[in-house]
Amino acid sequence: RIAYVNGRYVPHRDAAVHVEDRGYQFADGVYEVCEVFGGRLVDETRHLDRLDRSLRELRIAAPMGRKALLTIMRETVARNRVRHGLVYLQVSRGVARRDHKFPDPSTPPALVVTAKSIDPAAGERTAAAGVAVITVPETRWARPDIKSVSLLPNVLAKQQAKEAGAGEAWFVDQDGTVLEGASTNAWIVTHDGRIVTRQADNRILRGVTRTGVVDLLGRRNLTLEERPFTVEEARQAAEAFITSASSLVIPVVKIDGAAVGDGKPGPTALALRGSLHQVTEMSHVV
Ligand code: PLP
Repeated sequence: RIAYVNGRYVPHRDAAVHVEDRGYQFADGVYEVCEVFGGRLVDETRHLDRLDRSLRELRIAAPMGRKALLTIMRETVARNRVRHGLVYLQVSRGVARRDHKFPDPSTPPALVVTAKSIDPAAGERTAAAGVAVITVPETRWARPDIKSVSLLPNVLAKQQAKEAGAGEAWFVDQDGTVLEGASTNAWIVTHDGRIVTRQADNRILRGVTRTGVVDLLGRRNLTLEERPFTVEEARQAAEAFITSASSLVIPVVKIDGAAVGDGKPGPTALALRGSLHQVTEMSHVV
């Protein structure tokens, strides 16, 4: 495997950043994960738009223009011969002697891009089985709308889910409403067929896949409600599901050990999964 690190393509096993990288020392950086489907990047414009926004919010300079970034992402996909998989891109505030305050503005941001293949059959098996989720109190900072590499609460929540035999953890606000998963957005389907997901304000990440599903619902004339929903409403819902670029749409079959609906993957979630790529922008990797 090959990785891009600060201007060079290097063997993945040798790909390393400096010990004074601010991403390493302060989690002072942002990232994106973009799906590769049939050798093409999926929804690259939305990912790069969100990257720009994350950088702007944290006042980190863009490492280069958008076209150059896209070229590196495509080149990394091509060099790793990825047909189905993921591209990971991370920008940190760069390398500087350890000091919390921003480094000198001449310090270039650091850029890392990696790509890996994923067996599409594994995702289909997960979707066919559905996942269990647990709920955990929100312990993240006040700006989870920024795709920061500071993911310790997410790491702890995912591990807690794993230890409970679940595949995802939902962060729950003090008022009992579901915010989002540790690495996914959260959705429910009501018994009269309305599809509900929390509004994308400062309390959750605006998932690119979430936006893709919103588009899809519009095209299919399905009813979308962007509003908070409680854990109790989710437990009583007809269906629940989660979305992300790495997992697309995955039905949720259990919440804190209790079955959702009949305990089987819901038909709406599976239909949305099947249709998602029809509404997403895909760009060729030459
Ligand atoms: N919410 C969080 C906290 C995430 O980390 C992610 C993805 O990593 C998502 C939602 C889903 O976003 P996307 O669909 O852009 O992958």
